[in-house]
Amino acid sequence: MPTTRPKSTIQWPLQAANYNRFRSTVQMSKEPELPPPLDVVAVGAHPDDVEVACGGTLAKLAGQGYRVGIIDLTDGEPTPFSKGPESRFLEATQAAKALGVCYRIQMDLPNRQLFDCFEARVELAKIFRMTRPRVVIGFGDKSPMASPDHHQAMLLTDAAVFYSRLSKWDEQFDHYPPHVISRQLYFRLALEPMNIAGNPYHTLIDISDTLERKLASIRCYGSQFDHKRQIEDRVRAAAVMAGSIAGVAAAEPFAAARPFATDDFFGAVGLDVDPTMGTDPSDVRELTLRHWSTGLGKATKQHTPTTER
Ligand SMILES: [Zn+2]
Repeated sequence: MPTTRPKSTIQWPLQAANYNRFRSTVQMSKEPELPPPLDVVAVGAHPDDVEVACGGTLAKLAGQGYRVGIIDLTDGEPTPFSKGPESRFLEATQAAKALGVCYRIQMDLPNRQLFDCFEARVELAKIFRMTRPRVVIGFGDKSPMASPDHHQAMLLTDAAVFYSRLSKWDEQFDHYPPHVISRQLYFRLALEPMNIAGNPYHTLIDISDTLERKLASIRCYGSQFDHKRQIEDRVRAAAVMAGSIAGVAAAEPFAAARPFATDDFFGAVGLDVDPTMGTDPSDVRELTLRHWSTGLGKATKQHTPTTER
């Protein structure tokens, strides 16, 4: 079973939207129009969080033809060296283009004062209901000595993933219909410790071929990183370190919010499916039984292969 889809021809134009403007156009509608659904949505507290955490994976998915979106819960402003929300939004737009994602929404929840509250959960759940992703990726832990908005973003995302599927509550969500999000993954900022949500057994996504695009997307945020260019070395080092654990050049770690089962064994262990499988299953139904004499046992037996159906 192939794990990738043909490349989408509709990657562009990027549909970046400031959520405040966007919301005013749909709020009153009883039956809001739904855009084509996304495959994956990544949620960050601030523009640049998602790039630093999982930009390589998003670029990889977009390159494979999946419809990938980013939600920034706040505009990330004020920050010391930024000219303001407009230029930060422009940076975020350029970063989205560098990754090749097809959707980016910037919400207007308050930077530095982001809190997990009912109203914010509902607003994020509305966007999940509108964009209908199969997978949501978001913060998986606190980020000590960095912005506390990150942990609040985790709590908000957890809640909104749940709210997205609730029935008999459509009026809370401007009549966007319920949507079940199949999988939720946690990420960490590349500069944080490796542990995510107490889970050391991560899934590592090989970003060897998209690490440079991840770094290019981070470079778009001149207001945040021009005065600390070492960020690039640190992000690269974190990706190389994660990759080295699994024997690839670079990787990004994720943890599943809940364990999930798969019937794609080889995909789950990071291997391609044998393309010849399923063409002639009769040969694998044969059972070969044999003894193996080492000469070390009490008695040796003849090596007589047998075959049973
Ligand atoms: Zn942040």
